[in-house]
Formats: sequence, structure tokens, C-alpha cells
Amino acid sequence: MKWSTSLIGLFVCLTTLVDIVPVNGAENPRIIIVGAGAAGIAAASRLYQKGFRNITILEASQRLGGRIRTTPFGGGIVELGAQWCHGEQGNVVYQLASVYSGLLKSSIIADEDAVLIRSTGVRVSEAVAERLQTMAEGIIESEGRDTFDGSLGEYFTQQYWKQLATPAFKDISRDLAEQFLVYYHNYERGYTAYDTWYEVAASETDSYVEPAGNQDIAWNGRKGFSTILDIVSGNHPGTTNQSLTPVPLSKLITYGKFVSSIQWKGSSDGDVIVKAQDGTSYEADNVIVTVSLGVLKENNATMFTPALPAVNQRAINGLYFGTVNKIFVLFDAPIPEDFPNTVHLLWYKSDLAALRQSPYAWAEAVSTFFRIDNQPNILMAWMNGAEGRRAEYLRDAPIREGILHLLKIFAKNMTFGNIQGLLRSKWSSDRLFRGSYSSRSITTENLNTGARALGTPVRNAANEPVLLFAGEATNPIHYSTVHGAIDSGFREANRLINYYS
Ligand SMILES: Cc1cc2nc3c(=O)[nH]c(=O)nc-3n(C[C@H](O)[C@H](O)[C@H](O)COP(=O)(O)OP(=O)(O)OC[C@H]3O[C@@H](n4cnc5c(N)ncnc54)[C@H](O)[C@@H]3O)c2cc1C
Repeated sequence: MKWSTSLIGLFVCLTTLVDIVPVNGAENPRIIIVGAGAAGIAAASRLYQKGFRNITILEASQRLGGRIRTTPFGGGIVELGAQWCHGEQGNVVYQLASVYSGLLKSSIIADEDAVLIRSTGVRVSEAVAERLQTMAEGIIESEGRDTFDGSLGEYFTQQYWKQLATPAFKDISRDLAEQFLVYYHNYERGYTAYDTWYEVAASETDSYVEPAGNQDIAWNGRKGFSTILDIVSGNHPGTTNQSLTPVPLSKLITYGKFVSSIQWKGSSDGDVIVKAQDGTSYEADNVIVTVSLGVLKENNATMFTPALPAVNQRAINGLYFGTVNKIFVLFDAPIPEDFPNTVHLLWYKSDLAALRQSPYAWAEAVSTFFRIDNQPNILMAWMNGAEGRRAEYLRDAPIREGILHLLKIFAKNMTFGNIQGLLRSKWSSDRLFRGSYSSRSITTENLNTGARALGTPVRNAANEPVLLFAGEATNPIHYSTVHGAIDSGFREANRLINYYS
């Protein structure tokens, strides 16, 4: 470590005088942040805003934002990754963005209940849909889960059929009950990114704490969700909060650096040696790793020297990292008026069997169609599970045909315009992500691990925190979200700020 005792004294002294500590560059601890997603930007910004100046962010791609990927399309923007701010209280995204008027608004999908449409094109009545949905949510939230020895899928199906056998549901036909079950499973997979709910223990300690308030808040403006990165780094026009010093991100970030090796017991004086795949090498006092859990799963065995401690490795192996994907379809006319804002797809068994035999078999992955905010000509299809992952490898033409096939089935009597363009995410096949977001599975439970274990800092022989971990998957209560990622970046920055003060 290059951080001398006398300088620590000076630092402490200055910290008590002013919040922002202008420390001398040469003696400043050299901090490398791997990854310029929400967690990396948050960590760098907090450190910079507290006076740390020797910060380098190594980012493998040519852009910042990671799984926040606001992309121009159809004359406006779409979000290939994070789209909605989920909740208000206790949500750092909402806290930071809601002070600027007009940035956030309730999404159109929050304004209207989702509609269930069967593969005959017939809608399930609102009252029936609501009863089934309430019953299903009740099962998911029921206390019986805690003591059930089996998977969530087994628990859910047992409870579901039990409830359907009661007089309260005697009007529900067997067909509809089966269709709803298949749909609900697909819908749950969208939230959690599991391939199947048979991979999840019923007793899974789902520690996610939902921030209270509106769960579907959309962004206004051309920068969409990326706006949060400007706000966190003090670069949003009109920033008035003095604690948000503008952070010169373009100077701090070096793009095109795929970090392939981190020697955390690197040299005799305690430096950490970070190497990128292009052969460049960096020395640091501390490294904050913010790459996705998918990247850690794929690379951790070769990325860290020595190998990570067992606690971190177990978490990398035990936590689940699944995939959801989106397809945006641009039409040359607005989506028909009578097409609801959210449509869930319910398949008759025979129709699903026919789909599986057709060239559009991949389309089974689509659970839901959404209209999107501010873009009346665009429809979004949400894809889950292994079929959705496999669809990443298809060309656009069969995807386009599959979407048209679904619309012919589920929006029978509606006339859509011609498709003008298609844009889709491929989170799993992208080596910089290898999936969409983290969750907990039976393996997580069996290995008795979790987000906290993943975020355990690695210390060197002198007990200095040389290797730290941030990113959504390290957040025990807000994993799988942007607010979770930002909180985790702040957490690790604060760890270093406390360490050096
Ligand atoms: C389809 C989809 C929909 C979502 N919807 C929402 C939503 O509506 N609301 C919400 O709150 N959240 C949503 N999320 C989740 C949210 O996007 C993520 O939780 C969050 O953005 C993760 O940020 P992060 O900084 O932890 O990781 P990342 O964004 O993955 O950042 C990691 C960065 O590291 C870089 N990197 C990877 N490997 C290396 C390497 N070896 N060397 C250097 N750099 C590397 C990557 O390029 C990336 O920029 C969604 C995600 C997806 C995929």
C-alpha cells in the first residue's frame, strides 16, 4: 500500500473540515473499478465526490451503462435492459431522480390491469383474471412455503389445484386452469429469470425487499434510464445538489479493456496487478469488481490469482443467473387501439403442441406483449427461459415471422401495420453479461450462500481490503435491479472511504 500513516492523518483531518477532500494525486490510493455499469459508475462517483482522484474504470465494451442500455429506435428510444424504476420508498433511483420534475412518470403499463388472452383470441374476463391472479400471488406469498420440502414449482402446483377444487373456483374450467398455470409459471420466470420454478426451493429465503410505491415508473426524455448515470455522477443538467460534484467520467473510463487477470497478492509491496486481455497491465491499491455474476461464473477460475476465497467462490457457484430478453417491433402505424397495454398469453394445450412443431417453436418463450411508453408504433415482446436464450441465435427473419404468428393468434381481429424494424436483446450470448439478472435457486439454498457472501471483500495478508465486489448480485435485498446495483456501488465506495479515513 502506498498510503502513508501521516497522509491518513491529514485525510482524517480534512474530512472533518470539508466533505470533499482534495488529496494529492501522487499519494492518492489507486483504485481500479472493473466495469462501467450502474454499480461501477456509482462506486466511482461516490469516491470521486469524497475527494479520491486516482480512479480508473476499466470497461470491456465501448460504452457505459452495462445492463442499462437505452437505444435509439423508431424515432425515440427503447430500453434493451432496465426499463422501469421499481418502487419509490427505499429506492435510490427514485430518490435521486424524483427531485427533477418531469423525469419520471407512471408507466402506461401501471395504468391498466394486464389482460389475459387465450390462444383462441378470446379474452379472459377481468373479474376471473383478477381472482386467478390474486390466488396465485397469495400462494407465492403464503407462509406454508417456508416449511415445504420441495421446489417452488411443486409447492405452487399442489396449492393451486387444492384451491381450484374449492367452491370459490368451481366456475373455472379445467382448460382455463391449466392455461393459467402455464402462463403464471412463464410470468414468474420473467420476474426471477429462472428457467423453471422447479429449480427454486419453495422455502427459498426470498430476501428481496420491494420498495413501497409504484412498481412501474417510466422515464421521460431521450436518455431514458441512462439518465440515472448522469444524476449519480453529478452530470445531469441542472444538478443543484452540491454533494454531487460532476465526475469526469470520460477521463476516468478506459474503454475496450476486458479484464482477464487480477493478481490480488500481486507484488511484494501489496499492489494488485490488473491485466486486460489486450496485454495492458495496471497496478492498484484496491480493485472493485462489478462485472455480472454471469461473467464471474464463466471467468472466475482464471480471472483471480490466487483463487478467490471459498466464501466468494461458493456464492459464484450457488447464486443463480438467468436470462430474460426483449424484442421490440416497430410498425409503420400505431398499435391498434383495442390492443391492451399488457397482454399475457394463455395457450390451449393443442395450440401449444402445434406451435412446438412449427418453425416458430421459439415463440413459446414469449410470455407477454407490452406497449411501451412514448412510442405508439412499438410493441415489446418479453421472452423467458431456455427457449428465449436459444432464440438469441436465430436471425431476425424467423423472429419477425414468429411475432406475426403470435399476433395472428392472440390479436385475431386486429389490424397491425407493416413491420418496419426489429430490435432485440441477446443478454445470454454476450460474453460481457452471460445473462440478465441474479436470483436464488435450490443450489443457492443447498450451498447456504447468497449475495452477502458474494460481496465479501477479499483481504491481503496485512488485512487490507484489496479486492471488493459490487453489482446487483451482491445486494442482499435489492438484487436484480438498478437500485440494487447503485446501492452496492455506494456500499463498496463507502467501505474504502471508511478504510482510508
Ligand atoms: C432485460 C432486462 C430488463 C431489466 N429490467 C429492469 C428494470 O425494469 N428495472 C431495474 O431496476 N432493473 C432491471 N434490470 C436489471 C438491471 O439492468 C441490472 O440489475 C443492473 O443494470 C446491473 O448493473 P451492474 O452494474 O451490477 O452490472 P452491469 O450493468 O452488468 O455492469 C457491468 C459492466 O462490466 C462490464 N464488463 C463485463 N466483463 C468485464 C471484464 N472482464 N472487464 C471489464 N469490464 C467488464 C460490462 O460490459 C458492464 O458494462 C433489467 C435487466 C435486464 C437484462
